[in-house]
Amino acid sequence: QIAYLNGDFIPIEKAQISPQDRGFLFGDGVYEVIPVYSKRLFTFEPHLKRLKNSLAATDIMNPLDDAGWRKLLQKLVDMHPWPDQFIYLQVTRGVQMQRDHLPADNLTPTLYAYTNELKPVSDDIQIHGIKAVTLDDLRWQHCDIKAITLLPNILMKMTAKQQGADDAILLDRGGFVTEGTSSNVFIVRDGQLQTPPQSTALLSGITRQVILELAEQHNMPFSETPLTLPDLQAADEIWLTSSTKYALPVTQLNGQPVGNGQPGQAWQKMQQHFENAKQAHINK
Ligand code: PMP
Repeated sequence: QIAYLNGDFIPIEKAQISPQDRGFLFGDGVYEVIPVYSKRLFTFEPHLKRLKNSLAATDIMNPLDDAGWRKLLQKLVDMHPWPDQFIYLQVTRGVQMQRDHLPADNLTPTLYAYTNELKPVSDDIQIHGIKAVTLDDLRWQHCDIKAITLLPNILMKMTAKQQGADDAILLDRGGFVTEGTSSNVFIVRDGQLQTPPQSTALLSGITRQVILELAEQHNMPFSETPLTLPDLQAADEIWLTSSTKYALPVTQLNGQPVGNGQPGQAWQKMQQHFENAKQAHINK
């Protein structure tokens, strides 16, 4: 497996960074995860746009231009045998010898990227779905930035696990659903697809956007609307969406069945639309 680090393609186990990297010391960096189907980058443009937003919001220098990003990532993909992959890329503010919260001027960002096989979601999950619990969202007020500081997300996922669930759906202090620990939330209620609107309380997921576009194209009623715990409890279906898992059906919430306790019809229909969109992209 080959990784890219600051200009070089090297075996992943040989990749090394300085412990004085601000990413390591402070979590001072941003990242992206981009899906690849049949060796073609899927939804590359919106991922690049979000990366540029994250870099601008944190005032970290963008180390490459758009064409440079595409070239680098495609090259990384082509170096590996798997047709379906996911690329992880991370940009930190760079190495600073004096530890100081305030960044020094003119730091050179650290750019790290690697790719791995994107495996299909297991049959067990496709058939039975996953269990989720609701938890208080412990995070900060800029969840729209894809920052590498994921400690609250990790702790919340661990709590979900301790409670016998696979993941958590997060509620902000006002009781509104934000998102999952690494996914966006959709519900289906009376045939309508609903997801919380974009805000600084959640990451604007690319898969979320793809699903909204597919709903529009296929005349499935949808709305971006604030959701609460009672909305989740009254839902016929709940999905958690992300670039590596597409949409996972949640069939149990806080120990109670969601709808009839099985992956729903809208989920199945959307899955088909998504597969078709993927194929169209591959054949383009
Ligand atoms: N929210 C959070 C907190 C995430 O980590 C992710 C996955 N990166 C998402 C939402 C889903 O975003 P996307 O569909 O772009 O992968």
